[in-house]
Amino acid sequence: KIKIGVLALQGSFREHCSMIRRCGGEAVEIRSASQLEGCQGMIIPGGESTTMANIARRWNLFDALREFEDEGERCVWGTCAGLIFLADRIEQGAKQGGQELLGGINVDVSRNFFGSQIDSFETTIPCDIPGCSENDVKCRAIFIRAPAIKKVGENVEVLAKYYLSEEKKKEMGVDIESVVVAVKQKNLLATSFHPELTSDLRWHELFMRMSKGCKPFQSKLAKVGEDR
Ligand code: GLN
Repeated sequence: KIKIGVLALQGSFREHCSMIRRCGGEAVEIRSASQLEGCQGMIIPGGESTTMANIARRWNLFDALREFEDEGERCVWGTCAGLIFLADRIEQGAKQGGQELLGGINVDVSRNFFGSQIDSFETTIPCDIPGCSENDVKCRAIFIRAPAIKKVGENVEVLAKYYLSEEKKKEMGVDIESVVVAVKQKNLLATSFHPELTSDLRWHELFMRMSKGCKPFQSKLAKVGEDR
């Protein structure tokens, strides 16, 4: 079985775990560095990115998360707050926080792009899921205080965009045609919406396909004070 670690500090980790199990994988909730051992992929769920970063710092997890990602031999998928974790650049501004991040995906992200909690919404968007053989692929996308990708750098594949309707532009007071909401850069995947809150397994199946070729993680870091 392919073993996937799901960062379980806060947020929608249970839903991700059950999706991974439905795809035939083994899901492990990650609360300490040692639990990452043997994982081929890791999911950073949605939640609140500043809170998650604070907990990860307090629990001494950042070094292990970095080591897991940096070797480039494992897969990492961030949804929503997880996308913020994986972004190389966060648009600066009052709403942006200033939390510690992992980075890795060459994109500029705007936090809470669509507004606050009451502006959360669900819609259907066209998407391109690598390896998915259907034509004209669409998926249900749930945006909860979601971030959006404003700029995409080199080596980043765009897998989905959200097109703003005239109504939406007016409501948000912006004049932007579209924003990127799903990307892949080699072993890294990020979506600003939440496939784990739908019954659609295709994004998790994609991540399982990506992780299949990845090397099970073995930390080289000294194992001191890793378990709380
Ligand atoms: N807006 C949240 C943040 O900045 C992310 C929201 C989510 O993950 N549903 O962390």
